[in-house]
Amino acid sequence: MHKIGITTTVPIEVLLAAGYQPIDLNNVFINDPNPERLVRLAERDGFPLNCCSWIKGIYGVCMQSDIDTVLCVTNGDCSNTVMLMEVLKLKGFKTMPFAYPEEPDVNKMQFALETLAGKSGTTMTEADEVRQELKPVRKLAHALDDLTWQHGLVSGFENHLWLVSSSDFNQDYHKYSDQLQNVITSCRNRSPYPDDMLRIAYIGVPSVYGRDLYHYLEKNGARVVFNEIQRQFTMPRPGSSVAEQYSNYTYPYSIYRRLKDISDELTRRRVDGVIHYVQAFCHRGIGDIIFRDSIKSPIMTIEGNDDFFLNQHNRTRVEAFLDMIMHNRKRLEGNEKLAANK
Ligand code: SF4
Repeated sequence: MHKIGITTTVPIEVLLAAGYQPIDLNNVFINDPNPERLVRLAERDGFPLNCCSWIKGIYGVCMQSDIDTVLCVTNGDCSNTVMLMEVLKLKGFKTMPFAYPEEPDVNKMQFALETLAGKSGTTMTEADEVRQELKPVRKLAHALDDLTWQHGLVSGFENHLWLVSSSDFNQDYHKYSDQLQNVITSCRNRSPYPDDMLRIAYIGVPSVYGRDLYHYLEKNGARVVFNEIQRQFTMPRPGSSVAEQYSNYTYPYSIYRRLKDISDELTRRRVDGVIHYVQAFCHRGIGDIIFRDSIKSPIMTIEGNDDFFLNQHNRTRVEAFLDMIMHNRKRLEGNEKLAANK
């Protein structure tokens, strides 16, 4: 299979049907033993200091790997990708643009998918066959998510890791499926997390902190029961066609669709507090205004740049946030007891 780098979650069914091996460049970047090195490499080549680290990391990965073709999402993800694509062309890469439609319209999505299929040398009939093949794999990711929030058997970080990896299924969906099945089997034999732990939702793009944030939360009596974007990567509402599946995927479209999904899940998962992660220099950070206005649960915004760990300043903020929501929870429980005794 010919390797193809992808800059975010894309209709992987089309690429697999065309005989490509999709590789999510974000995952390669963040799993690198020294991601700072990839950011510095991009800066040495001229990327500005005030450019998002994910873009620089993706560029760094391209420069250091044997990938020669990159699918760049030019609408529905990040405006920086457009210029990244131009720089990659300059460096001799073959680039393939893909644009999510402005709105989640199934007909418009079908047109975008057919264009992509034509460019990559396959058909939507073949892509749909791949969709059928991936269905059980996606179901496993959904099962792991259920074990996280319903049964307390999977940690927030494990949830993040397996869900975020569904953008390219760790480059091999057969292997991903076997490994995830084993993880699920072993998780079922674990003792659940204690019920009194605070339940946290993580919304926003995946962070540069990796496991640090999740572990720090657990150390302080809280656990993540909802990873918003990561869950979206698994296609939780698959619909009945590739076009429908990617129209139901909330990330590329209006923030209000994300908000609806988030609000539903906050209630369903009985969330005590929300952490909104924003990446420095990212346009999506502006959406914080809308989330803060609309989400009724306590919310903390945390911004990361190119420090790949939770620094002391943010640790202190996280502790203060958890104290506040624990206090809230106790007050509410006290009020309920009083009402019941009246
Ligand atoms: S974090 Fe924001 S700026 Fe960075 S790649 Fe993602 S969408 Fe673009």
